Amino acid sequence: MQKYNFVVLGAGLAGLAFAKRVSENGYSVLLLEKEETVGGISRTINHNNYYLDFCAHRFHTRNEALLKELFSLPGFNMQKHLKKSRIYMFDKYLKYPFQLQNLLRAMPLSQSIYCSLSFTANLIKTKLFKETSIKSYKDWFIHFYGQGLYEVMCHPYTSKVWRTDPSMISADWAEERFQGEKIIYLIKRIFTKLLTLDFSSYSIEDEELIPDGGEFYYPKRGIQELPDAFVRAVQNHSVEIQTGIKLSGINRKDKTVAFIQNNSSETVSYENLISTIPLNIFYDLQDKKDPEIKSCIQNLVYMNIIFVFVFLKRESISNDHWLYFPDEKIIFNRGVEFSNWSPEMCPQGTTSVCFDITCYHDSALWNMPDDKIADTAINDAHRIKYINKEEVSSYHVYRLKYAYPFYDLDYKHKLDTAVKFLETDDCYLLGRTGMFRYNNADNSIEMGFALAENFVNDASVKSIYDYKIKHISL
Ligand SMILES: Cc1cc2nc3c(=O)[nH]c(=O)nc-3n(C[C@H](O)[C@H](O)[C@H](O)COP(=O)(O)OP(=O)(O)OC[C@H]3O[C@@H](n4cnc5c(N)ncnc54)[C@H](O)[C@@H]3O)c2cc1C
Repeated sequence: MQKYNFVVLGAGLAGLAFAKRVSENGYSVLLLEKEETVGGISRTINHNNYYLDFCAHRFHTRNEALLKELFSLPGFNMQKHLKKSRIYMFDKYLKYPFQLQNLLRAMPLSQSIYCSLSFTANLIKTKLFKETSIKSYKDWFIHFYGQGLYEVMCHPYTSKVWRTDPSMISADWAEERFQGEKIIYLIKRIFTKLLTLDFSSYSIEDEELIPDGGEFYYPKRGIQELPDAFVRAVQNHSVEIQTGIKLSGINRKDKTVAFIQNNSSETVSYENLISTIPLNIFYDLQDKKDPEIKSCIQNLVYMNIIFVFVFLKRESISNDHWLYFPDEKIIFNRGVEFSNWSPEMCPQGTTSVCFDITCYHDSALWNMPDDKIADTAINDAHRIKYINKEEVSSYHVYRLKYAYPFYDLDYKHKLDTAVKFLETDDCYLLGRTGMFRYNNADNSIEMGFALAENFVNDASVKSIYDYKIKHISL
């Protein structure tokens, strides 16, 4: 039986980054991936010469060392972009992110006054009374922005994307996505501008327009170029990658993994097992069982996404990289026009848009037939004058499971329990899906390197469950 220092379940960015780092230090690795291609969520589909990412997949990081390492991957390059993005509210396309003045002016006057007053009152209150109990995303948003903006900006989009009221979402989600320190700085700026009625300098070039502004990188033919470059980087090292496999079992005592490839069963043995696959699938595969832990893991819910890719007989429909659609009467959350990311993403003279629809696996939406969901998305986009449906040449529907870890109010307790149980006998969890952590791509790569370095440096604690991202990218 073939034996490896590491068997890694899943060849997404986290698994690939881990394999790169340990193999550079002489360890052998086997990556087992169920899809035919590597990349996981950072994958690109080639459909009739249209390159399609899973919605927006910009690469951005504040970790300079990581960026430098990525640019040194063989045959890999990315172009720099300045993000262009808008939000559709009050039947208007407004600049995004956080064009608060723009938003206040677009609102009906009464709402605008209410939002400004509640924002100001809230700012004074939080300055005077620092002690606030922040448990949910609703608490977090109101703490920083006030009730008025919560009702207008946070509630509609958040409850649409997560199909849940923001009061039921853990504040950890906001903490992981946004940097508190910078947000306070942003609020001060907005407040000053509101007082002085200065509506002038909110431009897309303004780096401080967090939480979403600034520049990002993107390869010419989709984000797939990044995982593909990792594969080239490990080619000459002791790394094997098996794609299109079906895992059939993990024996913790014997330290073996069984899988099926091309209709034949194989078993390999490991010194350490790294899992980047969904927690419930990992639990079911391995032979250590406990009904309480099982129910705990089953209650850690991942959200699915349906992507409707629409192909149009025109060169361009807007300049935006993507647009947000908080209105619940519109079926999709975002529209991403790939030709604005790179002209090579679409055949000449055409463009494509990706609409994403978030839902849970047991919902009516998830079970809706492809043609019905595509028709609804196309008709909604036509109604709000984003596309002209006469120009649609065809569409493609793709369903992605385990897209978002959903942080309910009790998720941390459940996750702590699950991790304590699963990370034993030389098994370790890694990555966005494997650790149930709301990672961006750079975070998953950084964690892959961090876990690998714990082995290379023989750290006393190898697990990175408590790892804090050093450079949060926004
Ligand atoms: C809609 C969307 C948009 C995003 N946009 C951005 C963005 O703009 N910028 C950004 O930085 N990040 C973005 N992200 C996040 C980014 O995609 C992820 O952080 C990153 O790809 C996660 O990599 P990972 O390796 O940790 O996890 P994954 O990509 O989930 O890797 C897990 C791997 O395990 C494999 N697997 C699962 N089950 C099995 C099994 N049973 N057997 C074998 N293999 C299995 C999967 O196929 C996958 O390859 C976005 C995510 C989503 C969902």
